Amino acid sequence: MEKLRNILICAHIDHGKSTLADRMLELTHTVESRKMKAQYLDSMELERERGITIKMTPVRMDYKGHTLNLIDTPGHSDFSYEVSRALQAVEGAIVLVDASQGIQAQTLSNFESARKAGLKIIGVANKIDMATSEQIDDTILDLSELIGCDPDEILKCSGKTGEGVIEILDQVIERVPAPKEVRFDLEAGRALIFDSQYDEHRGVIAFIRVFSGEFNLNGDYYLATTDAAIKAKDLGYLRPEFSTDQTIKNGEIGYIATGIKDPDLLNIGDTISDIRPTSESERKQISLPGYQQSRPVVFVTFYPEHSEDYDEFKRALAKLRLSDSALFFEPDMSEVLGRGFKGGFLGRLHYEITVERLTREFDIPVISSFPSVAYQVKFDPKMKTENIELEPVSPSHPSRQSEAEAGGGPAEDGYFWVKNPRDFPENPAAVKEPISRIEILTPIEYMGPILALKELYRISDIETKNLSAKKILISAKLPVADLISDFDDKLKSVSQGYGSLSYEIIGYETARVDKMEILVAESVMPGLTRILPKSEMEAEARKAVQKLKELLPKQQFSQAIQARFQGRIIARETQSAFRKELGNFGKNGGDRTRKMKLWKKQQRGKERLKERGVSLTVSIPQSVFKELLKK
Ligand code: GDP
Ligand code: MG
Repeated sequence: MEKLRNILICAHIDHGKSTLADRMLELTHTVESRKMKAQYLDSMELERERGITIKMTPVRMDYKGHTLNLIDTPGHSDFSYEVSRALQAVEGAIVLVDASQGIQAQTLSNFESARKAGLKIIGVANKIDMATSEQIDDTILDLSELIGCDPDEILKCSGKTGEGVIEILDQVIERVPAPKEVRFDLEAGRALIFDSQYDEHRGVIAFIRVFSGEFNLNGDYYLATTDAAIKAKDLGYLRPEFSTDQTIKNGEIGYIATGIKDPDLLNIGDTISDIRPTSESERKQISLPGYQQSRPVVFVTFYPEHSEDYDEFKRALAKLRLSDSALFFEPDMSEVLGRGFKGGFLGRLHYEITVERLTREFDIPVISSFPSVAYQVKFDPKMKTENIELEPVSPSHPSRQSEAEAGGGPAEDGYFWVKNPRDFPENPAAVKEPISRIEILTPIEYMGPILALKELYRISDIETKNLSAKKILISAKLPVADLISDFDDKLKSVSQGYGSLSYEIIGYETARVDKMEILVAESVMPGLTRILPKSEMEAEARKAVQKLKELLPKQQFSQAIQARFQGRIIARETQSAFRKELGNFGKNGGDRTRKMKLWKKQQRGKERLKERGVSLTVSIPQSVFKELLKK
C-alpha cells in the first residue's frame, strides 16, 4: 500500500483536466504515443463531440516504482454528483485552474468538496503556455489563498506542451498519503462500488475501491444490500482499457465483471464483500458508508411513440442508470400517450445529455413532456382529484425522502408532488417550488450587466463579496425553474464568457405560478403544457405561440396555435398550411386528370387528419423545448 497513490483531478469546465490526464498517460507510458488522441479518457462519442467530460474515468499508471490511480472528473455543476462519488475513492485531489481564466465558480465548489472529504489538495495553475506571466502570478496567489498554503506550493503546468507535468506526478507521490489500513470489527473483504457500466456479454461491470481484504479472479462475492451473488469471471485494472489481473488488493482501484444481467441488482454506493451477510446487523457491519442519494430537480415524462417499445425503453433506462446513478425514473401513465416513464435529472445539461444518449445508444422514438421542476402543491379541498393519482410529499419511500430533504426537511402535510405539468391543478390552494443558491464569480466590470439579469429572472437575496481586486463573487437565490431556462447561456453572453456559475439546491419556497396549456387545432398538446410565474404568463404566452408558429412542423391544413390560462385563450397565432406542389396545370391542361386526382386525394387526407386530431400524437423535437425555455 505504501507505493499506492489514489487521486482525482477536479476543475471548472474546460480548464484542462482531460488534457492533463492525457499527458500523464503519455509520460507514464500507460498509453503508447501512436495510440494517443486528445482527451483520451473521454471515450463516449457524445463526450468527444461536445468536448466535455460527462463520466468520471479511472485509470491506473505506473510511475517511479509507484502505482498511481487517477480519476478524471466532469466539471459542470450538473455532474458534481459524479465528483462527489470519486472523492470517496481517493486520498488526494489536484485542483486545476486555467491560469488565463483564473479561479472560477466551480473551482470554489470543487475545492470545498475535496476539503470536506479530507483529501490532500495540490493546487495547479494550468495552460501556462498561453497565459501571461501576470495571469499566472495572479492565479498562483489566488489559489494559494483559497487552499491556505504557501504560493510556492502551487505547481505550474501546461497540459498542452507537457511542461511541469512530471513535477506534478513527483509531487503526488511526495505529498499525497498512501491509502490507510482501515480497521473493522468484522473481518471481511470490502470494496466500495463507485461507478458501473453495462456490458452485453459480461453483464454489469462494477468499478471498485477496495477498503479491506482482496478480491481474486473467479472468486465468489456478494452485494451487501441486494444479496446478489457474484462470480468474478473477470477483474483487474483500467490502463485505461480493461486489463485482466489475478487480484485487486487493499487500497487499490479496479473493476469486477459481475455477470449480473439485471441492472436493478447493483447499486452504486453498495459494498461488494466475500461474506454473505446472515443477519441485518452483519449487513450493517459489512457495508461501507455509501453515498447520499442524488436529488433530481428537472423532470420530464417520456412515452415511447410505439407502445410495443415500452419494455425495451424500460430496459434502456435501467442500463443507462448503471453508468449514470443520478438518473431517476418511475412509471407514468397518460390517457392520450399511453405508458411511459417519468425521468428525474440533476439539471438541464444532465437532461439534454440523457435524451441524446437514449437516442444514440438505444434509438427508441419517444414523445416527451415539457421539462419541469417538481412542485409541491396543496389542492383546494373543494376540488375533485379523483382523476389524478399523486404521491403525498411527506416521505415514505427512501428515494422520495431525499427529495423532501432537498426541500430542507419534510414538507407540510397535504402537499403533493407534481412532476408533470399535466397534473398541475387549476387554482391550487398553495404551491411551493425548488430554490437554488447560485454563486457567480466574475471580473468586476461585468457586475452591472449580470445584476441586470434581474429583469429576466427571479433573482433575489443578492450578496456580493470581493474575492480579489479584480474579481467579485455574487451569490443569490434563484428558483430552479429559472435556472433551467437559459440562465447559464445568458450569463455567459452578458459577461462575454467571463462570468462562471455554480449552484446548489437549498429548499422549497412558496411560488405564485400557474399552468399554461398550448392548443393546436383546438386540442391540448400534452407535451407543451408548462408551469410559469403568473406575472409572466401573458408575455410568455405571446412568445410561445409566435415561436411555435415557426417551430412546429406545418400540417396540410392551416391551424390555430393558442395559449390557454385558467380556461381563457390569452394568445393566438395561425399557422398556414403546408402545400404539396401540384405542379403547373399549364395551358393545354396536360396531365389534368392526374392532377385532379392528386388534389382530391390530398383533400381527403386533410379531412381524415382533422378527424383524428393529428396534433395529439405529434412528437415535439427537443430543440423546440429548448427554444421555448429561452428568456
Ligand atoms: P476539461 O473540461 O477540464 O477536461 O478540459 P479539456 O482537457 O477538455 O480542455 C479544454 C480545452 O483547453 C481544450 O480545447 C484543450 O485543448 C485546451 N487545453 C487544455 N490544456 C491546455 C494547455 O495547457 N494549454 C492550452 N493552450 N490549451 C489547453
Ligand atoms: Mg474533461
